[in-house]
Amino acid sequence: MTEDHATLIQGGRVVSADGEYDADVLIVGERIAAVGAVTAPDGATTVDATGCLVLPGLIDNHTHLSMPFMGMWSSDDYDTGTRAAAAGGTTCLVDFAIQREPDQLRSALEEWQGRAAGAAHVDYGFHMAITNANESTIDDMEAIVEAGVSSFKLFMAYKGELMTRDDAMAACMERARDLGALTMVHAENGDVVDLLVKRALHAGETSAINHALTRPELVEAEATSRAARLAEFTGAPLFVVHVTCAAAAAEIQAAQQRGVGVSAETCTQYLVNTIDDLRRPGVEGCRYICSPPLRDVSNREPLWDYVRRGILESVSTDHCPFTDEQKARGLDDFSLVPNGLPAIQHRLSKLWDEGVVAGRITPSQLVDRTSTTIARRFGLSDKGAIAPGKDADIVVFDPNAVRPYGLATSFMNVDYDLYEGELASGSVRHTYCRGTMVYDRGTILTEPGHGRFVRRSSPAVTASVAA
Ligand SMILES: [Zn+2]
Repeated sequence: MTEDHATLIQGGRVVSADGEYDADVLIVGERIAAVGAVTAPDGATTVDATGCLVLPGLIDNHTHLSMPFMGMWSSDDYDTGTRAAAAGGTTCLVDFAIQREPDQLRSALEEWQGRAAGAAHVDYGFHMAITNANESTIDDMEAIVEAGVSSFKLFMAYKGELMTRDDAMAACMERARDLGALTMVHAENGDVVDLLVKRALHAGETSAINHALTRPELVEAEATSRAARLAEFTGAPLFVVHVTCAAAAAEIQAAQQRGVGVSAETCTQYLVNTIDDLRRPGVEGCRYICSPPLRDVSNREPLWDYVRRGILESVSTDHCPFTDEQKARGLDDFSLVPNGLPAIQHRLSKLWDEGVVAGRITPSQLVDRTSTTIARRFGLSDKGAIAPGKDADIVVFDPNAVRPYGLATSFMNVDYDLYEGELASGSVRHTYCRGTMVYDRGTILTEPGHGRFVRRSSPAVTASVAA
């Protein structure tokens, strides 16, 4: 495709964060040129979208491709993981580069850039996870922001591996604040989890369900509250990742009502799965081990309501797949199971069925929570909307094309699908990333390397005060 090639998506219904309307969308080169009643220019490719919804490409703000964790690697790399993203209507993801050397962040960013370069099919950015916040690490934060990585993540969990203590956390938050960057936290009280895990193992409680029982809701809520209070104390904007339960979401709302700049996301699996999935026998239960864990079903409607009201402003996936062989390492000791599950391909179809079709959110709210708000919050200024001048990141979604979940239709590099045998009521027909069709009805059309690193500007740092 040349720089100027034009594609006209005709006859679809455009869904934006503000509403829906019938419109054609003209793509010229990598950008959206016009939206409305458009006549196809000479030589343009026309695409019939009659009966389909035309959405801005989804953005997944929370993924772990080729992630080193607990002595293993997550099983999707930037090639397979972004194929699955495109198949699920995701055109941009923000993955986590993780500090691996005590003194600096730049080497981690180079390492992750090296893994993604030439491999990805959709665009990508990075957050930088700080795991050892000494003075030289904090000095390094400015270079990371200058490299287009404008958010930092701290782990309040994973004691002895990734966990940051409160003094270091406060120092990082102050530095991020001064750099115009956003601090993200994984909020669980790692000390208390460590205590509960030791007790459970000592008592011989080793099966998968004990993973969830040793990470109870109040341990997440306590850390969420503590992080929000540190944000209030330091004046640093905060984003809490993967909120799983009503108790933690209530802490977000309370902070927002105090006027603190705290925002938060949840993930698909917390809206559709429950703690009971961990009670499945053998390795099947291990597949559902992620942190924070899946919760009791009593959280489901409250969590959806927090999403609907925008107190949880976005939904990502925390995609971090491990194969059955990797998961089986912890069959006799849940604490050895690598944490994470495969979800990158299923966010749109699950939120469509469980959110829109079930009447919990509108199509516009789905677009807002999975694309527009993420773009605004994380400084992806060319993405997140179908409007002239924006990147032509577009999904043509057929709400009536039933699609089975399962290994036969999964692009994820993992040997099971959590929703095997279930049916999605709609399907992604086409996914465009910067004007190029990446995915066409079951087939990936691009070569690895179509996806590019996206430099992010300073994030939007004001949280809206909750209604
Ligand atoms: Zn994560």
